Amino acid sequence: MTGNQGIQVLPPSAAERIAAGEVVDRPGSVVKELVENSLDAGARRITVELVGAGRRLIRVTDDGEGIAASELPLAFQRFATSKIRAAEDLQRIHTYGFRGEALPSVAAVARVEMVSRVRDGEASRITIEGGTQTSHGPASGPVGTTVTVENLFFNTPARRRFLKSPAREAAVIIEAIEALALAAPDVAFRLIDEGREILWYPAEPFADRARRVLGPRVAAHTLELSARAPVDLEGILGTPQAAQLRRTHQRFLVNRRPVRSPLLARALTEAYHTLIPDDRHPAAVLALRLPPQEVDANVHPRKVEVRFVDERRLFDVVTREVRRALLRVPLVHVVSGARTAGLGEVPGGPEERPADGRSPAHDAPAAGLLLALSTPDAPTRAPVRWPSIRVIGQLALTYIIGEARGDLILIDQHAAHERVLFERLMARRAGEAGVAQGLVAPVVLDLAPGEAEVLPELSPALRAIGFEVEPFGPATVRLTAVPAIAAGRGPEALFRACLHDLEGDDGPHAGRSLEERLAIATACHTAVRAGDPLDLVEMAALIEALGQTEDPFSCFHGRPTMIQMRAGDLERWFYRRT
Ligand code: ADP
Ligand code: MG
Repeated sequence: MTGNQGIQVLPPSAAERIAAGEVVDRPGSVVKELVENSLDAGARRITVELVGAGRRLIRVTDDGEGIAASELPLAFQRFATSKIRAAEDLQRIHTYGFRGEALPSVAAVARVEMVSRVRDGEASRITIEGGTQTSHGPASGPVGTTVTVENLFFNTPARRRFLKSPAREAAVIIEAIEALALAAPDVAFRLIDEGREILWYPAEPFADRARRVLGPRVAAHTLELSARAPVDLEGILGTPQAAQLRRTHQRFLVNRRPVRSPLLARALTEAYHTLIPDDRHPAAVLALRLPPQEVDANVHPRKVEVRFVDERRLFDVVTREVRRALLRVPLVHVVSGARTAGLGEVPGGPEERPADGRSPAHDAPAAGLLLALSTPDAPTRAPVRWPSIRVIGQLALTYIIGEARGDLILIDQHAAHERVLFERLMARRAGEAGVAQGLVAPVVLDLAPGEAEVLPELSPALRAIGFEVEPFGPATVRLTAVPAIAAGRGPEALFRACLHDLEGDDGPHAGRSLEERLAIATACHTAVRAGDPLDLVEMAALIEALGQTEDPFSCFHGRPTMIQMRAGDLERWFYRRT
C-alpha cells in the first residue's frame, strides 16, 4: 500500500454506484427489475427489447397503470416506492418490489429514459444519466410505461469486466423472463433480440405456461400436480423419460415469486428416487402458496432466495405429493422414432455380470424366480395403471417381448425382477412369517477383514431382510437363513455379494438406509439376469408380479423396466399410415 489518503465519506454518486452493484450486477438483473415493476403495475402485456445482449440497450414496454407526470422524478430517488408505506408492511408483501432501489440503482450505472402515462393524464418523459437527471418534460405515448436503459455500466468498468459473453448474458436474460413468465401466466410476454422476436407467450393457464417454458421436448412427457392441503402446491412434472443431465429444467415459485431453492430441488430428487437414474435430474415446475408468515422473502438483495419457517415439513409434503402424482399415472417409456439426447436416454446400469468371483453363481435362476413370484404374502396393490400384457417370447435371453392392446412391449427381465424383489423385501419386516428361509444345512463362512468390519453394524438390517447370521469364531460366522425370496440362490455367494455391495459408503445409494441398501443388493443379486432362459409361464408370472409393484416402470437404479412402442408408431414405420 502506498500513501494514506485519509478517510473520506464517498460522494453520494459513488456510494450509489456501489450499492447499485448489489441489485444490478448484469443485464439480466436489470431486465428482472424492470419486468417486475411492470408486473407490479398490473401490466397485461410486457415487451422486452435487447441490443448487444442488453449492454447497449434494454427496453421494457408495458401497458400497466403508469406513473403520474409529477411523480416521475420521485421514482428515481432511493427508497422511493409506492408499494409499502411503513416497515410493518414488509410482513405482507404482495408486490415484487418494495425497497424503492431498482430504478435509482439502474440509473446510477446507465443512461435511462422513462416515458409513462396514467389513464387520465398526459404522458411525460424523464432522462437520467449516471444518476443525474438530464431532462423532464411532456411526451406522447399510450397508457403504460416504457423504460429504456442504454450503455449499461458505462461508468463502472469493473462491473463491465465481470460480464460474461453476450450469449451467456442473453441466456441469463431469457431465464429471468421465463421465471417471471411462470409467475404471471396471465400476462403476455414478448422478447425481441436485435429486432428479431425470439420469444412470445400469450396469456394462458399456468399449466400451459409451464409446459411452454419447459420446452416442447420435455412438455411431451409431463403430468400435472395439484394439491390444496396441507400445502397449496401446483406443478408440472416431467415423467422419468424427461429427466435431464443437468438441473436446468427445474423452476420454483413461492407465492408467485420465482426463487432458487436447494430445499425444493432436494425434495424433487427424493420424490423421483428410483424412478430415474441417480445422475439425472427431474424436470419440473413447482408453484407453492404459503401463508406469508411461513416465508421470508427479504433475505436476499435480489430476492431470489426465500427462507421457509418449517423446512422439514415442507420437504416432506412436497416429496410426498410429487411422488404420489408420479405414481398415479403409467410412467412407461414410450419410444417413437430415433432417441433424442436427454430424453429417454439412460446410461448403462451397474454391472449385471460382475466377474470378481464373489457374485452368486447362476444356479437355478428360473426355479428361484418361480419360487419368489409365487410367495403368497406378496403385497398387492390395485394394478390400475398396469396394461394387460400377453407374452410373445424372449429376446436375446434378456428381454421379454409382449403385446398390450396392439402396442409392442419390451421388458428388461433383470430390471423387472429387481423391482419386484426390492419392493417385496422392503414391504416385509423381521419376525413376519416367510421373511427368512432356514437353510437345511447352515453354512460356515470365513470373513475377509472388510466383511468382518461391516457385519456388526449390518446385523439389524440383515435380520430385517431375512438373513440370519451368528458369530462362530473371531472371523467366522454361521449363516442359518436367507431371505425366502432368494432361496433359489447359492446362500454363501449371495451373502458375500451383499456384504461386498455394502462395504464402503460411496455408492450411488449411499444416502439410503442400510435396510434399503441391503434390499437393493439382495434384489440385484437374486434377480434373473440377462442370459437366463425363461419360459412363457415364468415370463407371465414376472409380468404379473411387476404389475403389483408400486412403481412397475423402473428398477431402483432408475432404469426403465419396460419400453413400449405404440401401435400407431409401428404403422408409421411400415408406412401403413402416415
Ligand atoms: P420498488 O419496485 O421497490 O418500489 P423501483 O425503484 O423499482 O422500486 O420503482 C420505484 C417506483 O416507481 C415504484 O414503487 C412504482 O411506483 C414506480 N414504477 C416503477 N416502474 C414502474 C412501471 N413500469 N409502471 C408503473 N410504475 C412504476
Ligand atoms: Mg421495482
